[in-house]
Amino acid sequence: MCGIVGYIGYREAFPIVIKGLRRLEYRGYDSAGVMLYDGNELVVCKTKGKVADLEERCKDTTTAGATIGMGHTRWATHGVPNDVNSHPHLSNSGELAIIHNGIIENYEPLKKELINRGYTFKSDTDTEVLVNLIEDVQKTQNLKLGKAVQVALRQVIGAYAICVFDIKKPNEIIVARLGSPLAIGVGENEYFIASDASPFIEYTTNAIYLEDEEIAVIRLGKKLKVRKIKDDSLVDPYVQKLQMNLEQIEKGGYDHFMLKEIYEQPSVIKDTYRGRLLADQGIIRMAGIEDNLERFVNAERILIVACGTSWHAGLVAEYVIEEFTRIPVEVEYASEFRYRNPIINKGDVVIAISQSGETADTLAAIKLAKENGAFVFGVCNVVGSSISRETHAGAYTHAGPEIGVASTKAFTTQITVLTMIALRIAQAKGTLNHTDYRRYLQELERIPEQVKEALESNDVAKEIAAVFKDAPNCLYLGRGYNFPVALEGALKLKEISYIHAEGYPAAEMKHGPIALIDEMMPVVVIAPKQGHYDKVVSNIQEIKSRSGKIIAVVTKGDTQVRDLADYVIEIPETSDALSPLITTIPLQLLSYHIAVFRGCNVDQPRNLAKSVTVE
Ligand code: GLU
Repeated sequence: MCGIVGYIGYREAFPIVIKGLRRLEYRGYDSAGVMLYDGNELVVCKTKGKVADLEERCKDTTTAGATIGMGHTRWATHGVPNDVNSHPHLSNSGELAIIHNGIIENYEPLKKELINRGYTFKSDTDTEVLVNLIEDVQKTQNLKLGKAVQVALRQVIGAYAICVFDIKKPNEIIVARLGSPLAIGVGENEYFIASDASPFIEYTTNAIYLEDEEIAVIRLGKKLKVRKIKDDSLVDPYVQKLQMNLEQIEKGGYDHFMLKEIYEQPSVIKDTYRGRLLADQGIIRMAGIEDNLERFVNAERILIVACGTSWHAGLVAEYVIEEFTRIPVEVEYASEFRYRNPIINKGDVVIAISQSGETADTLAAIKLAKENGAFVFGVCNVVGSSISRETHAGAYTHAGPEIGVASTKAFTTQITVLTMIALRIAQAKGTLNHTDYRRYLQELERIPEQVKEALESNDVAKEIAAVFKDAPNCLYLGRGYNFPVALEGALKLKEISYIHAEGYPAAEMKHGPIALIDEMMPVVVIAPKQGHYDKVVSNIQEIKSRSGKIIAVVTKGDTQVRDLADYVIEIPETSDALSPLITTIPLQLLSYHIAVFRGCNVDQPRNLAKSVTVE
């Protein structure tokens, strides 16, 4: 989610680290920091803000003699963005320094244990727990740094890419990864460490990409040693010759951030439910919900306020929450809600959804709801954002920074969070029978795999995009849970390809839009097997009899719709309630490829801004 950079060698470390951080800023930044070591003193300089703020902050710090350094741009997951929570973090003795990209899920029990053992903490981060855990292992078991890190990491549940430095071992840096990326640049008598190769590409093209559950001891003058964290077995690291340019590296080899983010969905959905969904034990545990469970269980009504794609996620949530919990739900455009004197009762729970957590209209809607005595719960992606501060409680989506203006992974992770909320309330209220509840948990856990499978539709989506790239209009149809997906599919196409598109509940077509259908009109129909399949098939027949061109999203193995449709995109089977997480994937890919064929600026479409901070 954030960027990490490290250097150990003979050059001055500070400029390398700072330049590297600047190149990694696209990964998200709310704070930045560096650690430098010149053989005598360990210096840490860090601040809330961007890399430019860090440079300003370090202006008076002596950095010239240091040839070992590491730096971090933070994208907060635990603890608001402020100076203290910024990385690097030091251990209690002040001897160990760490930078960390990822989430330590079980930081709470680990922290409690360390506090019992006399450790104190300055920050609210999960990372500071890890560095002290390493110190504790090092001291109590009398281990070398590399081994201590390894033993500590065996106790950790979560995701990490870390660099650890020990003032007592000034010739080495320990790095390890699980779930978060980490590359090592191998030079002559020098090593570079970074989240991707962009910080070191001009120094060396020899790179080792650490695999999950690997740890490397990087020691000057010695051969790099890589081991498996679990069983300590030695790994022969594969040194790659990099051939990518800077921009390609930042986009992870994808042509656009949007495509990269579409492909990140399997892993970020996992990040969203990591530590919150324990399917085998039948548990959903989210702090913001647990602390306020009574309010949700006794809510007379749930009001959802949001804008744009988040509003579509809210519509999916309306269907899911009502189905599972039997609590009435209303979904409102925040911009309408705030100006229309809405009825807000004390017993209402208001859920505000926003990727950035800065959406002006949603913030105003929150204020209004609070003034009227409602309990307001936020669902946003950016930790410490205005919405996360303004709401009574909330849940982060942990999708990582979304750079593409058209939202993709934010949408699916919002739905994941909202579905977990619905399931937890249903469990507490007893409105969903136990077998179904357990089945949904298992299915939710499988979603990342199924999203991965759905991404295999990329080639087909591209072929279809080539056919319809010049269409002036497009219709998207879906029923039930997939009606909001139709809206979202149409919005994606409008946003990035500038083709006029409309999303409709499939049955509404005959109340107007069917008049638009002729042989020129592409109609995207979401028709998975579960749900109102037969009804959707009838709607497809209606389009076909009017010569519309049908692009159908169907469950793998479907033959009935295949016979009717002009083009089909297959997706894996899920239950109806979870299907939006899958059906939305081919629609994202379709809009993406159409926009690329039309030569549009996919990541920065005209007239749009990523976070809408004006009303
Ligand atoms: N979980 C850590 C924090 O909140 C690291 C987040 C990151 O990847 O930037 O500080």
